[in-house]
Amino acid sequence: MESRFWEARAGRAFVGRLATGSDLVEELERFCAERNIRAAWISALGAVSRAAYRYFDQEAKQYVDLSSNEHHEIVGFIGNVSMLDGKPFLHAHATFADRAGETVGGHLMPGCTVFLAEVTIREMTGVDLVRTPDDVTGLNVW
Ligand code: ZN
Repeated sequence: MESRFWEARAGRAFVGRLATGSDLVEELERFCAERNIRAAWISALGAVSRAAYRYFDQEAKQYVDLSSNEHHEIVGFIGNVSMLDGKPFLHAHATFADRAGETVGGHLMPGCTVFLAEVTIREMTGVDLVRTPDDVTGLNVW
């Protein structure tokens, strides 16, 4: 498979704070659907009271689900939004730190409970990023 690039233009920019108790992934996807954001980059920081994430086993082509009910800082969060099954889909990876500074992380899943999250959403226009199944990776890709 060859690398693929598309030229995008900067669209709208949003900055916000997610509600305490909301679901980190679902709340961002809900907002993107509400504002008709079809492509974007998202960054965030804050804290969660529960973390849910996955690790992709590249040989088995299967996800391993992981979670933690400890309180964590969100020390890194980068994600993008594209279209999957006709809806905005958030693909995000995050690193979470506990009170000892130890970190866990991975591919974010619904089930992360927001304590506080400050987010920036940068819309991209002029591109049509649609995820479809890919045989090589076993993932839904652009
Ligand atoms: Zn991922």
